[in-house]
Amino acid sequence: MIDFIDVEKTYKSGVDALRGVSFTIEDGEFVFIIGKSGSGKSTLLKCITCEEKPTTGKVTIDNFDISHMPRALIPVLRRKIGMIYQDFRLIETKTVFENIAFAGEIIGIPKKSLAQTVQLVLNIVGLKDKADAYPQELSGGEQQRVAIARAFACDPKIIIADEPTGNVDPQMSYEIVDLLMRLNEAGTTVIMVTHEHSLVRCFDKRVIILDRGSVVSDGELNNLDQATAHINPASEIASDYSKGAEDYSVYSRSDADSAAVSDNEITEVMIADDFAEIIESQTVIEDISSGGADTLTDGGENID
Ligand code: ADP
Ligand code: MG
Repeated sequence: MIDFIDVEKTYKSGVDALRGVSFTIEDGEFVFIIGKSGSGKSTLLKCITCEEKPTTGKVTIDNFDISHMPRALIPVLRRKIGMIYQDFRLIETKTVFENIAFAGEIIGIPKKSLAQTVQLVLNIVGLKDKADAYPQELSGGEQQRVAIARAFACDPKIIIADEPTGNVDPQMSYEIVDLLMRLNEAGTTVIMVTHEHSLVRCFDKRVIILDRGSVVSDGELNNLDQATAHINPASEIASDYSKGAEDYSVYSRSDADSAAVSDNEITEVMIADDFAEIIESQTVIEDISSGGADTLTDGGENID
C-alpha cells in the first residue's frame, strides 16, 4: 500500500511542485496519473522512489514511513520498484539479454536461473527473437518492451512508469499499456504517468488528475469525462482533458507478439524461486538497519 498524506514539495528554487497531495494506492491496483506538463507528476513519482523528499507531509509504503527512511534502506526499497522511463534508459553497449540480466547479476542470481528468467520475460513482452540485438537495432516500441522486461525480471512489487508511451507510435502505446495491464493482473501494482488523455480513456482504470501540484480528481472511471465534469468547463484544464490528440480505440493487441503469451508464464516469473534470495537479503539489511542507521536528512535535490 502506498499512502500520501498531505504531501507538499517545494524545490529549493521556490517552485511548489506538490501541494497537499493525499491518496492511497492499494496493493495490486493500476492507477493512471495524468496532468499537464509541469503539474508535478514526475515529482510525485520521485517521492515514492526516494529521489526527492517531501517538504512536509508523509509518504508511506506498506506502513513504512519513507519520508524518514534510513539511507541504507533506499536501495532495498528501490529493488521492490521497477522503473520505466520515457527514454527507455537501456545500456547501448549491452545486448537485450544483457540489459535484462544486469540487475539480477548485481544481486547475485545464479547464471542459469537468470538466463531462464530473461527468456521468460522476453517471451512475455514478445521479443524472444531479439535477445542478441543491441538497443540501437530496435524500434522505440521494442526498446520500451525491453525496459518493461528488465523491470519485470526483478519481480517488483510496484511498477512505476513515467510517460512510457512518450516516444512510441500509437499502436505500440496501446500495446505497452496493455502489457502493463497484464503484469498488473498478475499481481504487480502499476502506477503510470501520462499526458495522453485519449489513451487513458481506452482503459477503465483509476485516474488521479494533477493540476499545478494538487489532486483535482481521483476515481475509478468509465471514461475520463466523468472525472473532469466537476472541473470548471471554461478552464484550460477542462478543455485539455476533453479533447484527445489520438483515438486509441482503433488499436488492439497485435496477435504476433505479447498477446500470444499466456498469463501462466507471467505468473511463473512472479513465483520464481530464485527471487526468494532477494527477499532474504532484504530481511538481512532490514535487520541491520533497525539498529538505527542515519536517516535521510536531505531530499537529494539536484538543484543548486
Ligand atoms: P511533470 O512531470 O508533471 O511535468 P514535474 O514534477 O517534473 O512535472 O515538475 C513540477 C514543477 O516542479 C515544474 O514547475 C518543474 O519546473 C519543477 N521542478 C521539477 N523538478 C525540479 C527541480 N529538480 N528543481 C526545481 N524545480 C523543479
Ligand atoms: Mg514529468
